[in-house]
Amino acid sequence: MLECIVTKFGGSSLSSDEQFRKVRSILELEPTRRYLVPSAPGKRFPTDEKVTDLLYLCHTLVHDGLPFLDTFAKVRERYESIARGLHLQVDITSKLQEVEDGIASGKSRDWCASRGEYLCGLLMADYLGWRFLDAAEGIVFHEDGRLNDEATQKKLSALLADGQSAVVPGFYGAMENGEVRTFSRGGSDITGALVARAVNADVYENWTDVSGFLMADPRIIENPAEISSITYKELRELSHMGASVLHEDAMFPVHRAGIPTNIRNTNKPYHPGTMISKNAPHEATVPTITGIAGHRGYSVISVEKNMMNSEVGFGRKVLAILEAEGISFEHMPTGIDSMCVVVQSSSLEPHRNKVITEIEKLVEGSGSVTVNDNLSIIATVGRGMVHNCGTAARLFSAMSRARINVRMIDQGSSELSIIVGVNDSDFEATIHAIYHEFVG
Ligand code: ASP
Repeated sequence: MLECIVTKFGGSSLSSDEQFRKVRSILELEPTRRYLVPSAPGKRFPTDEKVTDLLYLCHTLVHDGLPFLDTFAKVRERYESIARGLHLQVDITSKLQEVEDGIASGKSRDWCASRGEYLCGLLMADYLGWRFLDAAEGIVFHEDGRLNDEATQKKLSALLADGQSAVVPGFYGAMENGEVRTFSRGGSDITGALVARAVNADVYENWTDVSGFLMADPRIIENPAEISSITYKELRELSHMGASVLHEDAMFPVHRAGIPTNIRNTNKPYHPGTMISKNAPHEATVPTITGIAGHRGYSVISVEKNMMNSEVGFGRKVLAILEAEGISFEHMPTGIDSMCVVVQSSSLEPHRNKVITEIEKLVEGSGSVTVNDNLSIIATVGRGMVHNCGTAARLFSAMSRARINVRMIDQGSSELSIIVGVNDSDFEATIHAIYHEFVG
C-alpha cells in the first residue's frame, strides 16, 4: 500500500483551467498523492507562448528600457482566465500587480522568471484547498547559484514535517539572504525530486504530456516501443545521449534516496508510464536492450606516438591540454601506441588549432595528431545485456548487414551500454539496424 506520493505537473499540464481540472481528478484518483509541485503554465496550442518565456521577455524589455506592459498583459490574461474558469477565491489580480511592480522596479531575471511558478502554485493551492509553501522558504541556493543540497533537505523536510498536503512551486528557491534564484530551464523537475526526498515519498510522479520514455527517437523510428521500466543508471546513459523527458539533475536526489520516479501523462491518466528505479523490478524476462539514443557532431582526436605505452603520464598530458581549454571528453579508446579522444565538435571548434599545436608538441618527432570530424555516437543501453551472451555480436552483425562501417567501439565496464561511433551519414541507418535487430 502506497502511503505518500509527490506529484510534479509540467507546464502543458497546467496551461488552462481545463488542464487544472484534469490535475485535480488525477489527485482524487489516489488520495496518497499529497504534494504537488507545479511548473508555470505552458503552451495550450503549438503557436502559444509559455509564461516563463514571457516573463524572461518582460525582464529583458525593462532591462533595455523598453515598455513591457503589453507582454505582461499576456501573462496576466493567462492567470486571470484560469482563476475565472475555476471560480477561485484567491485575489490573483493583486498578486499579479505585485509581480508587475516588481518587474517594473528592475527585480532580478531569476525573480521575474520564478513568478510563473509562484502564481501558478497560488492558484493550484486555492483550487485544491491545500497549503501553499513558497519554495523560497525551503529550497536553498549557494551564492554562486548552485543548489545547497544539505540546507535544502534540512529546511524542506522540517517545513513539510506535519504531513499536511501542500503545493510547493517548482523551479526556484532563495539564497540565505532571501534573494530568489532559479534552476536552469525545466528545473521544476528538480524541485519535485527534492520535495519527494524531503517527505521520503514512496514514489515521485512526474506528470507531463507524453506517456514516458520511448525506446528510440520517434523522429527516426516510427512508433517506437515504450519503456515500462528502466533503472536510473540506464536512464542517465540515455539522457546523456539526448533522450530527454526529465531534467538531468532531477534524478540524483531521488536516486540516492532510493525513491522511484514514475513518468506519467496528464492526458492519459490510466497509462502506467515509465517507472525509473534504482534496481528495476524482477521481471520474468528482462528485455536485452532498454533503449537506443545518439547524437551527431563529434570529432575524434587521434594521437600516435612511438612507445606511448611505456611513457607514464602521456594520457594525462593530452587530457590536460583539453582541460585547459575547458573541453570535456566523451570517450577515449586507446591502443598500444595510440589514443583517440572523442569530443563534441562544437566544443573543440573554437580551440581546434591551439589543441592540435599543443598535442603536436607532445609527440614531436615521433608521432602524429589528426582530427576527424562528422562522427555520430550511438549508445545502446540495457541492463539485460549482463545476462545475455552475444548481444555485441548481434549488434555488430546487424550493422554489418546494413553495410555500416564502425569507426569506434566502447563498452563501459558495467556492461550497461555498447557505444558505437559511425559516420554522421550513417546515423539514422545505425539506429534503424539496431532497433530492428532487438525490437523487431
Ligand atoms: N517554467 C520553467 C521553464 O519553462 C521551469 C519548468 O517548467 O520546469 O523552464
